[in-house]
Amino acid sequence: MKKDELQPAAKESLTRRELLKSAGAAAVGAAFPVAFASAGPQSPSERVKVAVTQRAAAFELADVRLLEGPFRRAQERDAKYLLRLEPDRLLHNFRVNAGLRPKAPVYGGWESQEPWVEIRCHGHTLGHYLSACSMMFAATGDEQFRRRADYIVAELRECQDAGRSGLVCAFPDGAKPLHEVVDAKRFVGVPWYTMHKIFAGLRDAYLYTNNRAALDVLVKLSDWAVAHTRNITDEQFQRMLDTEHGGMNEALADVYALTGEAKYLALAERFCHRRLLTPLAESRDTLDKLHSNTQIPKVIGFNRLYELTGREDYGAASRFFWRTVVEHRTFATGGNGDGEHFFPPAEFLKHLSSAKTMETCCTHNMLRLTRSLFALEPTAAYADYYERALYNSILASQDPDSGMMTYFQPTRPGYPKLYCTPADSFWCCTGSGMENHAKYGDSVYFRGEDALYVNLFIASTLSWEEKGLTLTQSTRFPEHDTTRLQLKLRRPSRLTLNVRHPSWCETVTVNVNGRRQTTSRRPGGYVTVNRVWREGDIVQVHLPMSLRAEPLPGNPDVVAFLYGPIVLAGRLGREGLTPGADVIVNERTYGDVLNDKVEVPVLVGDARELVRRIKPSRGEALTFRTEGIGRPRDVSLIPYYRVAHERYNLYWKVVGKGDATHA
Ligand SMILES: [Zn+2]
Repeated sequence: MKKDELQPAAKESLTRRELLKSAGAAAVGAAFPVAFASAGPQSPSERVKVAVTQRAAAFELADVRLLEGPFRRAQERDAKYLLRLEPDRLLHNFRVNAGLRPKAPVYGGWESQEPWVEIRCHGHTLGHYLSACSMMFAATGDEQFRRRADYIVAELRECQDAGRSGLVCAFPDGAKPLHEVVDAKRFVGVPWYTMHKIFAGLRDAYLYTNNRAALDVLVKLSDWAVAHTRNITDEQFQRMLDTEHGGMNEALADVYALTGEAKYLALAERFCHRRLLTPLAESRDTLDKLHSNTQIPKVIGFNRLYELTGREDYGAASRFFWRTVVEHRTFATGGNGDGEHFFPPAEFLKHLSSAKTMETCCTHNMLRLTRSLFALEPTAAYADYYERALYNSILASQDPDSGMMTYFQPTRPGYPKLYCTPADSFWCCTGSGMENHAKYGDSVYFRGEDALYVNLFIASTLSWEEKGLTLTQSTRFPEHDTTRLQLKLRRPSRLTLNVRHPSWCETVTVNVNGRRQTTSRRPGGYVTVNRVWREGDIVQVHLPMSLRAEPLPGNPDVVAFLYGPIVLAGRLGREGLTPGADVIVNERTYGDVLNDKVEVPVLVGDARELVRRIKPSRGEALTFRTEGIGRPRDVSLIPYYRVAHERYNLYWKVVGKGDATHA
């Protein structure tokens, strides 16, 4: 590409803060300058008119710091893992394909070994890793992660310059899989899926670390994609999209937003799969048997394109997809699918015995979609789902000892969680997992016009520079049912504080400086406090939690137990779980290993009455025990996010008293 094409967008190297300083603080408000699903500091190009304004914008990840608690500990474990990995090994095939000498041997698993060579995911990990390091830098300020992101971007630039076509990739057969795809020939694997991770990694390096070279490499890579898809007919293009292609539409929409170049928007729209878009836009659910994690990223892209273009079919499709997945296709934990696919909602019971339910990537992507929908329409339903899935799928996905991640989260009664190896697996869920624990801070708070949303009860500090506000949230939630917000302000300031009133909580009370301010009896909304806030003001929020049973969709006699937003799992022992037995290289062996016979109690009584026979264990937070209702024995229940290296059960069969002997 010609160098001068980049010039008009040169202003984007300013951070949002710098832009605000030059434009005056009034610039924030009506139209938020930030418009990225990733909460980085960069603004869209001035040449881009964002069609649909975000009503609640995310804060930059760098504005939020986690304080001591389960999320901070998960972040620290993830940081350790990221530092253990060697960028040169992840870069191996990129250098080979560019004709450069690799600096270290390639990693195993999906990165180089059988039986995964056919899926052509080589290099996807580098993309995730670049995103994760960039986010970890923003989330912690630790320069080690910026240096790693800088190093990888410099290496990719060297590969791009040496290869000369603009393409950077790590496929073992070089550009061949992509050439075959765009030439409408038979092709192997999911090359665009893999490329999407590299696009996203470069975007995130730019957004979170302000690395200008990352944007240059990304633009040249995008130009390669523009040039090589130019001659594909629309029909051929759509046929190409029948194969998993990640969020290519979102990534290219972001490149458009960053550069203002219409050609990237045009290509982003061509990457919209009409076989999914059309029915969703007409509120038709055709998701049965579709590969779940193929669809969700496409919809993230639809919603992004709705923001940028205002085309209502994109918006309608995104909203309908979210509703149908969350309301009809989701387990209590916020996860979905079996064997990576959506199944008919009438078949939940049949799929409960599977060890391949709830792929972690699917929840990762549902959360990305949820927060982008929330930004456009800040309603508590989105935030409720976010909280539920964050605790019960994402926090639950990490091994508290090793920091490794789950692929599936099995609903099979008595099965354990299985985790990846650090250097021989490199599953999709390893990659998205690296990102998950780096970005917990990105959805705790949102800002509206003179309004602050507190969506999650996670110990953290928020710096809102334009308002001169520092907010410290101190809490041991969910172990305790209160949270405390302390405000530091440079000068008194009027602001509407919107504290989420979760759907699981009957009554929320809010005290300001020790005085009862308001009591809300409207679950699934916001408690609003509008006042002039002053230095040292303290807001105390009480969110009483209770135990409840939630049926498996369509099955009133099969229930999961929740305490507040926390899904409880029954502890079923460690049969066969010698140390390391639950760490696996090959995700395809889920369900083939560790199938020792485990007795799973049934519960006797009326499903609605059972919660009264489940009592908290004294002295142990969030720990419960059934009392006289388990057959053949009672069972202990703990948060699913705390379950590790033991067998568990999530859904309980409830039988009437007369049927108990047949159970
Ligand atoms: Zn995955």
